[in-house]
Amino acid sequence: MTGVARSGAPVLVIGAGPSGLFAALQLARLGVPARVVEREPRPPRQARATALQPGTLEILGQAGLMDDFLASSVHLEFARVFDPALAPVAEMAFAGTDSPWGFECSLPQWRTEEILADRLADLGGTVERGTEVVSVRPEADRVLVELRGADGAPETAETSWVIGAGGAHSLTRQSLAGDLAGETYPGTALAGDVRVSCGLPRDGSALIASAEGYVLLAPLPGERWITFIGDLHRDEAELLARDISPAAVAACLRRRVPDAVELTDIGWGSTFRMHRRMAPRLAGERWFLLGDAGHLSSPFGGEGLNCGLHDAHNLAWKLALEIRGRARPALTGSYAPEREAAAARVLETSDRIHQMAHSAVEAARTGIAPEPLSAEDAAAFTRARAMLDTSYADSPLTGEYGSPGGRATTPGSRYAGWHELPGPAHHLVFSGADHGDWTRFIDRWGGLVKVGRGRAHRAQTGRPKAVLIRPDGYIGFRASPADAAGLDALDAHLSSYLVPA
Ligand SMILES: Cc1cc2nc3c(=O)[nH]c(=O)nc-3n(C[C@H](O)[C@H](O)[C@H](O)COP(=O)(O)OP(=O)(O)OC[C@H]3O[C@@H](n4cnc5c(N)ncnc54)[C@H](O)[C@@H]3O)c2cc1C
Repeated sequence: MTGVARSGAPVLVIGAGPSGLFAALQLARLGVPARVVEREPRPPRQARATALQPGTLEILGQAGLMDDFLASSVHLEFARVFDPALAPVAEMAFAGTDSPWGFECSLPQWRTEEILADRLADLGGTVERGTEVVSVRPEADRVLVELRGADGAPETAETSWVIGAGGAHSLTRQSLAGDLAGETYPGTALAGDVRVSCGLPRDGSALIASAEGYVLLAPLPGERWITFIGDLHRDEAELLARDISPAAVAACLRRRVPDAVELTDIGWGSTFRMHRRMAPRLAGERWFLLGDAGHLSSPFGGEGLNCGLHDAHNLAWKLALEIRGRARPALTGSYAPEREAAAARVLETSDRIHQMAHSAVEAARTGIAPEPLSAEDAAAFTRARAMLDTSYADSPLTGEYGSPGGRATTPGSRYAGWHELPGPAHHLVFSGADHGDWTRFIDRWGGLVKVGRGRAHRAQTGRPKAVLIRPDGYIGFRASPADAAGLDALDAHLSSYLVPA
């Protein structure tokens, strides 16, 4: 076709927010170049999403980014609730899970994007700023994308795969998957990057619940704080819609926390509505939706940005294997069901945190405290909030042979310590004695599957077991016993989505 330029890269990423940048970076680590286009001419400087959860830190660690994130952030070990006089009401600790990171990293979103963009540049990737995608047309064997360059010049590009990471107003989603279905929470809130004088500890986030509403304050580097103030009263919302002035923000704070917090400076500030919404589908044959383009959750959970990074982590290895000719269609086909289930869980958890904040306000109004969580529920809630409980148990990429084993290796769940396994590969970990002939996996799946004994699986006696860990750290298959029939089942499982050597 005349006027259509074949893109040099097999993947076109729309949007250089956290989701698009991390997808491009993960692909680059796997040797797959991507063309990244971003309509904004300059990188943003907004604090917006500041919390990186322990489950996300594992992903960033495996991508070699932990030193930068640890050095650039405040480490929040607790999420606490306070009364308006800043007396503690409740506390949740991030420690005590099976993750090495017993805290959230708190840093402005622009800094997260800067770290991702710098690493992408180290790997040879670039972001084409000022370039906007105006239409996306998937065909059987390619996708046609209309773009408008920084100089206004139109371009039609042909690519093999499109990653739609254009945020809440994603054109890819609107044109290919339709509107986000779900609900918008009532009321308006204010988010701001502020400096305050207060006696709050800087090792955790603080939800201050008063009869007038709530204020969330979480430490940021440089003695700053991110604040959410809601639900705004009508007079406050009208005032802030005109101007987010220090005086208006200080008045909102004073109304909820009369004496204990004093605003000294506001940098970025914005009013916003909160949503619980999801796209009808997260992928088609040659396109995928990542991050806010596919799902929106209440920022109370601090999970929206994180969920986009998890999307990218799930997709990159699958797409890289597809592009290298080592995948069957089932592999990229698993992105949508896996991430739809994971995003639904994130929306549920964020909604629960959202409701808890409002219950705390209700308790301040009525004087009736909500029922405390049982120890078991509190532990499960911490894992959910930390984003350690994602499960792909119902995925077509998850299987099991024989009798169920222990919970630590439940198929579909995250394999604790996965991020220490070398390289982006599948790992086949054997334990016990008298396995079938496992050396055949080395010949047949060499290069795709590393075979060995994990640190936690040194036992050479007992029932033979095999656990398959995917490149993204999830348990894809468990054979127990890993006898000849168990290994046949494992081989058939791998063959269902990978092409052998
Ligand atoms: C006030 C507020 C507070 C929040 N707090 C948290 C929090 O604490 N924790 C958390 O995890 N999340 C939080 N979030 C959510 C978080 O900011 C988003 O989830 C996150 O930015 C999503 O990243 P993304 O890359 O998917 O989309 P975005 O960050 O929206 O990036 C999309 C990019 O695509 C570009 N783009 C769009 N369309 C096109 C096009 N057609 N062509 C080219 N480029 C295009 C846009 O310019 C943009 O740069 C908060 C959000 C808000 C508004």
